[in-house]
Amino acid sequence: MEQSKAGYYADFILYPLLITGLSVFEAGSFHKFPDLWLCSLALGLLMWMIVEYGAHRFILHSVEAFSRLHERHHATPSAYVGTPIWISLLCFALGGFTPALILFGWDVASGVTTGLTLGYVWYLVVHDAVHRRHLKHGSLLYRAKMHHALHHYAKVRGNYGVSSPFWDYIFGTYIAPAPRRSMTAVGEGRLTQGQTGGATHE
Ligand SMILES: [Zn+2]
Ligand SMILES: [Zn+2]
Repeated sequence: MEQSKAGYYADFILYPLLITGLSVFEAGSFHKFPDLWLCSLALGLLMWMIVEYGAHRFILHSVEAFSRLHERHHATPSAYVGTPIWISLLCFALGGFTPALILFGWDVASGVTTGLTLGYVWYLVVHDAVHRRHLKHGSLLYRAKMHHALHHYAKVRGNYGVSSPFWDYIFGTYIAPAPRRSMTAVGEGRLTQGQTGGATHE
């Protein structure tokens, strides 16, 4: 849903603070090498990649109540449309931290939550950059921009992953880039400036 600029960018400050807090707390309480915490962090990152792809494909583009909200982003990519922080915090608390704490204890819960939120922040940074920043040709973020441009404007469905194309490759939803001329027009024109075009996206 559409937010104020402050609300939109609150995630960019509060989540890194949460990640730093959890990491510092863990660093202070370790009596040995934090292998369990680091493994849990890696698992949380992997879980985020799956959640990002799955939620985008099977909720935001499939469940009517959510797809109507997501449509606003597709219509105006540069608007401050996103998930309010209280909703994302609740999802991480109830879907990640609490079950992990009950089942496996503090170290796993803290590590998984750190990994999940780290992945979420990376997703936010990439998605913000592909829509609002002019990116250097050939850079990692520029490639992400081209990938996401096809999600918005290609005539076929796909490229649901934003921070990584990995699950699009796995699940067969990867859209191969168009010839350079049209890709440049799509990526640097419409995607950044929020214009809508004739191509359908979903
Ligand atoms: Zn979408
Ligand atoms: Zn987008």
